[in-house]
Amino acid sequence: MREFELLQHIYSTAGAPSQRVLLPPGDDMAMVSLTGRAMLVAVDQIVDGQHVDLSTTPIELVGRKAVTRSLSDVAAMAAIPIAALAAATLPRDFGQQRATALFDAMRETADRYRCSIVGGDIAVHLKASSPLVCSVMVLAEPGPVPPVTRSGARVGDGVYVTGRLGGSLGPDGLGRHLTFEPRLDEALQLGRALGQRLHAMIDISDGLGRDASHLAQRSGVQIRIDAHRIPCHPGLDWRVAMSGGEDYELCFTAAGDVPHRLGELPVTLVGEVMQPAGPHGPLVLVRDGAQTFDGSQMGWEHRS
Ligand SMILES: [Mg+2]
Repeated sequence: MREFELLQHIYSTAGAPSQRVLLPPGDDMAMVSLTGRAMLVAVDQIVDGQHVDLSTTPIELVGRKAVTRSLSDVAAMAAIPIAALAAATLPRDFGQQRATALFDAMRETADRYRCSIVGGDIAVHLKASSPLVCSVMVLAEPGPVPPVTRSGARVGDGVYVTGRLGGSLGPDGLGRHLTFEPRLDEALQLGRALGQRLHAMIDISDGLGRDASHLAQRSGVQIRIDAHRIPCHPGLDWRVAMSGGEDYELCFTAAGDVPHRLGELPVTLVGEVMQPAGPHGPLVLVRDGAQTFDGSQMGWEHRS
């Protein structure tokens, strides 16, 4: 099963959205209209063995990641989190103490980002050895600019990433994918600094190559990336940095001048938005000296 193809099927077979759907599925968050106001909503889940490894990961970091993954999607829209719902299906032998620690960690993490957990659900697997599954749905409101979608990239835009990329798993699986900061404040700073010049944005969860291809596909453009500009973590090759995933940095396209830093966080120009390359051309083209590569497959796709 390929996640991307399944999602495309779900989107293509969905009926026409009601008029209250302001942003349909296919972005980091959807947006619906309440009476006169817009609300953004998204849900994400972590599964033991897939996104975390309970045998090596402290339960506090599991709870933290369950929340910060969803908050990273809020950042990708330059939106402001309001509240969250948390649901977990626990292994049969999980134990009261770990369950308490898990929910405490989710609540403390959500509180730290001013996003109270206001409800949820707990279930327990009946089958032995079924994994922990933890889902967090987050509600948000638009920030200083209208929510920044994946579909607004324009030919001539610069393509930028925040922070550094690659190696998030860490040598022992206990790396930055557990401890990253969702770029909420930085996304709002970008919105304030760039206004309508901030055209498209995504958080890098699958890897720069694959996530840039989501921007390119939704925007109907090609993204060209210069390999030597990619801000890799020290010692990493650009291919590793582009394809590792779980960086939870922001990738965005914008016109005109862009700040080089957001607080302490560097912002790097990595490429530009080009005319689409035609039906068989790559969505993401990476240039490394005289060589070019199809970057759109460089990243992590969940398969089973
Ligand atoms: Mg996302």
